[in-house]
Parts: sequence; C-alpha cells; structure tokens
Amino acid sequence: MLLSVEKLQIAFGQFTAVRDATLSVRKGQILGLVGESGSGKSITATAIVGLLGYVGGHIASGRVLFNDKDLTSMSEERLRRLRGKRIGLITQNPMTSLDPLITVGKQIDQATRLHLGLSRRAAVERSLALMKDVRIPDPVKVYGLYPHQLSGGMKQRIVIAMALAAEPDLLIADEPTTALDATVQAQIMRILVELVKERGLGMILITHDMGVVAQTCDEVAVMYCGRIVERSPVHAVFATPRHPYTEALIRCIPRSTMQTGTLVGIPGQVPSPVALPKGCSFHPRCGKSQSICHERVPEFRQGQGHAGVACHLVESL
Ligand code: SF4
Repeated sequence: MLLSVEKLQIAFGQFTAVRDATLSVRKGQILGLVGESGSGKSITATAIVGLLGYVGGHIASGRVLFNDKDLTSMSEERLRRLRGKRIGLITQNPMTSLDPLITVGKQIDQATRLHLGLSRRAAVERSLALMKDVRIPDPVKVYGLYPHQLSGGMKQRIVIAMALAAEPDLLIADEPTTALDATVQAQIMRILVELVKERGLGMILITHDMGVVAQTCDEVAVMYCGRIVERSPVHAVFATPRHPYTEALIRCIPRSTMQTGTLVGIPGQVPSPVALPKGCSFHPRCGKSQSICHERVPEFRQGQGHAGVACHLVESL
C-alpha cells in the first residue's frame, strides 16, 4: 500500500477537528475525498503532508504510513525532504503556488534542481519535457512567459508540472479545478487521470463534487463534520449509496435531463464544528433520522475490502 491513514485524530488545542479517519491509496489508484466545506477533507490532507503545525493543529493520535514509513514520527527535516519530492501537492488556486515575478519555466526548473539536483541545462530540458507531459502546446514559447500571461487552465498545468518535477509517488490535489470554467475543468481532470494511470502514481482528489468523483476516481471516502461516514469503490457507491449524506451528495449532481430550475441541494447547514449536535452529526439534515440518531454517534462498520459506513440504519454491508 502506498499510503495508509489509520484512525487519524486531528486537534487544534482542545478542539478535535477530525476523528478516526482511516483511508488508503494504492499505486495507480485515485481516491476521492469528498464532502462540503468544513467536513475536514483539506485538514486531513494537511496532516498527511505534515503541515498541520503551520496552521496551529497537531495529530492527537493515529498513524500516517507512506511507503511503510510512519510520517507522524518523522523529523521535520525528513518530512520537508519528502514533501514535494515523494508527495506532490496541487492547490485550488494556481496563483498561490506560482511566483508572479518568475517565468513559469524557471519555476519548474527550481523544483527539479531543488529535488533532483539537476544542472541548469538538464533542468531546462526536464521542464520542457514536463510541460509536454501536461499537454502544454509550444513548451519552448510558454517556458519564457510569466504567470499573468497564461490562462487559468495553463497556469494549473504548470502547477501540475511542478508537482511532478521530482517524480513523486503520491499526488494530493485539493479542489484542483474549482477556479476554472467547466470545459477547462474537464481537460485538467483528464490530464491528471492520464498521468496517474500512465505513471502508476497514487492520487487523493479532494472535492465537493460527486460528479467529478464519478468521472475520475476509483474509490471514494465521504467526510462529514470531521468523520469519514462512507468509504467504497466508486461504482458501488453510485449503484447503492449506503449513507444518507452520500445519497444526498449524489442527488446534487446536475443532470442534462433536469428541467430548468430543478437543481437539488441538501437542506440545512453544516453545523459549526464547535457545536456539533448530539448523536449523529447529520441528524438535523437527514430525512431518515430516528430517535437513536439523536442520542448515539454511529460507529463506522467495516465491510468487505475497503468499504464501510457509519449510520445506525445500515446493519450490514
Ligand atoms: Fe441519518 Fe441516523 Fe444514519 Fe445519521 S445515523 S445518517 S441521522 S439515519
């Protein structure tokens, strides 16, 4: 297994933001980590790459095994070498990853020289090859351009090239297409899927969009209020979603057969993480809630393979 996260508990001071998160990623596999804003997806990814300390959090318990090495007990120095080299990060907004004052080609050079120790000439050759890999037309011309001279989609391709610069084993893409329009979104997702499959990488794709999960992921972990509430292969979760929250997210996918004005949402709001309702956190929004749901937090029941669900109504998997 490339990555195994086992019963991860993330805290900010006395406040627990993520509880018992367990997930895994194999080589060549794309895991979708899905949920609304505030569900704990991005903070889980932050913990995996060892950056929690920079946002004031810490791992209270659990393990993060990457290539069988426990990242939670690794020194900051070793973690820093690992980040960017073995684990590539792709953020939502390419402008936060790119320096506006340096040409994009030189920025890819910097990443390869830092992590692979290439000569200046070898770094340029590698940057041009990476630009070709992320389907940038005319890499020689684009090499000398500044970020503001590129479209949003082209900037995100540069960020993907930088994430690939050191030949990582795992990519973590946090809402990589949210800032882009629909057609460019589809192009970027296609490039990412092809790269993962061609190179045998693992990828965690963080998204709020089950439509993107359906088109790109092999497995999905659905998060709500800091817990994973359902884990399943993607084909199974779309055929028979077990958790009412997963069902609700799937209902929200716009379909071409829908009539104008029929977009579906999930009623109510995600509760404040510092004032979670007693019992199942989803009960104020759940059409199937029963009295037990108001009293007891449902346990995560493990089924076959990696499947599992946390809901009082699901007896067996
Ligand atoms: Fe709904 Fe109860 Fe299941 Fe929570 S435990 S999702 S409230 S049915």
